[in-house]
Amino acid sequence: MYQSFIKPLLADTKKLFLETLFPITCFSCNKEGMFLCAACQPKLKSTHQVCIACKKPSLAGLTHPKCLSPLMADQFISFFDYRDNLVSKLIIRGKYYFIPDIFKLFAEMLAPRLQTEFPLMLNKDTALVPIPLHKWRQRWRGFNQAQILCQSLEGKLGTCTENLLERRKFTKTQKDLKKEERQKNTANAFQLLPGATIKARHIILVDDVATTGATLLEAAKVLKRNGAEKVTCLTIARD
Ligand SMILES: [Zn+2]
Ligand SMILES: [Zn+2]
Repeated sequence: MYQSFIKPLLADTKKLFLETLFPITCFSCNKEGMFLCAACQPKLKSTHQVCIACKKPSLAGLTHPKCLSPLMADQFISFFDYRDNLVSKLIIRGKYYFIPDIFKLFAEMLAPRLQTEFPLMLNKDTALVPIPLHKWRQRWRGFNQAQILCQSLEGKLGTCTENLLERRKFTKTQKDLKKEERQKNTANAFQLLPGATIKARHIILVDDVATTGATLLEAAKVLKRNGAEKVTCLTIARD
């Protein structure tokens, strides 16, 4: 009882303390109250959709029929250009300065666009699945940004977040690696969690950024190998 009362109180006090010391201001215009105010949100540079296999343009991010193979992801949706300064600055701040609210803000921006621009064909078996962090990294950061995205999206999309995967090895941060090293780094990085049911389901794999797509492709492979019918990869931004 005491614990359940005091814990949220401490969290609120900590939040208030941090917000007094470091007031939330817009990354673009410095207006107080939001990490990116409504007026500045259209400044984020959007990206066009590509096929995750060949990286060439594709309608709605659908994998080209000629690029599809049995374990290949079926669709890849990404909204913003990671090379845009404002986009990368927000994501990097969120991850490395431990601000999960930045990812909630991104989910707010993504949800309406997902509903209007992408026919996801959700059904009762569709699941939002976050790309898991290795437990050491999650402990250090205190949250998984992909999990925050899923949880903020689920109510808006009418789907549920399910943790179906786990990291089996500690991989280096992809952004510091060359292309060939990235593929090697993610090979066999994931496995299904015990009891995960995948068969004949549509899975939406969620991550913050796709660089080469190697991480998403590796996770998609595990899901497909275990019987997933369709795998859609979804990220805030791509490189
Ligand atoms: Zn602003
Ligand atoms: Zn292709």
